[in-house]
Amino acid sequence: MKFEELQQKLKDGGVVGAGGAGFPSYAKLNKNADTILLNCAECEPLLQPHRQLLRSHADEILAGLHMVAETVGAKQAIIGIKKSYEHAIAAVEKEIGKYPEMKIHYLQEVYPMGDEVILIYECTGRVVRPGGLPIEQGCIVYNVETMYNIYRAAVEDKPVTFKYLTIIGEVSKPITVPVSVGCSFKSVVDLAGELTCEDPVYFVGGPMMGRIQPHDGRVTKTTNAILVLPQDHPLVMKKRRKSKIDLARAASICCQCETCTDLCSRHALGHPIDPARFMRSASNADFQDLNPFLNTNFCSQCGICELYACPQDLAPRTLIGEYKAGLRAKGIKPPVVEAVPVKPSREFRKVPEDRLKARLGLSKYDLPAPLDDELQPEETVRILLRQHIGAPAVPIVKVGDHVEYRQMVAKAPDGLGVAMHASLPGVVTDVNDTFIRIRKE
Ligand code: SF4
Ligand code: SF4
Repeated sequence: MKFEELQQKLKDGGVVGAGGAGFPSYAKLNKNADTILLNCAECEPLLQPHRQLLRSHADEILAGLHMVAETVGAKQAIIGIKKSYEHAIAAVEKEIGKYPEMKIHYLQEVYPMGDEVILIYECTGRVVRPGGLPIEQGCIVYNVETMYNIYRAAVEDKPVTFKYLTIIGEVSKPITVPVSVGCSFKSVVDLAGELTCEDPVYFVGGPMMGRIQPHDGRVTKTTNAILVLPQDHPLVMKKRRKSKIDLARAASICCQCETCTDLCSRHALGHPIDPARFMRSASNADFQDLNPFLNTNFCSQCGICELYACPQDLAPRTLIGEYKAGLRAKGIKPPVVEAVPVKPSREFRKVPEDRLKARLGLSKYDLPAPLDDELQPEETVRILLRQHIGAPAVPIVKVGDHVEYRQMVAKAPDGLGVAMHASLPGVVTDVNDTFIRIRKE
């Protein structure tokens, strides 16, 4: 396929990163890439969609990976996958012989292996500079579901209308399912059997990087899990703590042990983020040296410092995130810096996933959530116009219009962004600056 044709198909097909910030996939395509990485690390505890999707759709996903590599002229394609995903590996091994440019790289069971900067280092030995993009090291990274969506949009002309999610935690039947983009979290949780606690909290997006969301929140193209937790779970209580209190606690009990820095996933890679130094400066309002504040730009928000490392239950990640957002809001750009050499201690300071689950109080929820690949029926969807990095999509339907399944309902904006499509056939009942609502007919 021609480069420009693939770009257009992904833009019109509404393909964005299926998880994380949801970077529009067409904008990652680049002819300078020599390596395409398929990310099947799936390192957030309890999440299981990618390994199962790869197991059931390895033929389409590897065909998509080959197509992308061929289109941009990359000489190799690497599938980064954990050894424990045996069924997915078996499915890949059946297909991989068709594609001489492909190889498998086995990943350790550590967190955060799915961070693309870390994945690139593990699979290629290349270090993306602080604040840099993977393409600067000749790499493009797509996760498994994104690659599946790329294949469907480019080869089958099917836009993104559903999202795979794992529903797990305080439910009787943990499950992984595809659901319509725009359906409510409550309707998704209902697919996982009975609730096993009263008045649960929905932790959306994984325990490390996810957020508490209302029950009537909507599935987007980046939603990858709903973790159902009781109100008094430590993760929930920690998430609800006010940052003013976090800062006051840091001022009084941060002992400067530096465990947060020692275990910081980006610091170990030679990036200048230093949570211990930041905590000292922020909690003492010490602005003589601005570097600890400016370097918050280089935090990936992985959460190791806050949810695993700190012996005092402090919140470096949250406070760093607030400073980072504040700098961005004021238009202060990250300093241009190079990484120093990777720390020799990095190998010994990786965070094992099992210990992480135990530390988070999640071991009892660590159960299979088998994939049911049938798309679940919905009566109403509310399709958000902004579901990813970039500008919101622009509605092209009006109230009362009848729309077909997969019909484009909002076009890609000028600049960075993608189109949105009807995730069920029906009548448009609302159109505003934020969403389009469609009711099934
Ligand atoms: S790990 Fe906790 S106590 Fe130790 S330096 Fe970091 S924030 Fe302070
Ligand atoms: S969240 Fe903490 S551990 Fe993770 S990159 Fe940021 S400072 Fe480092």
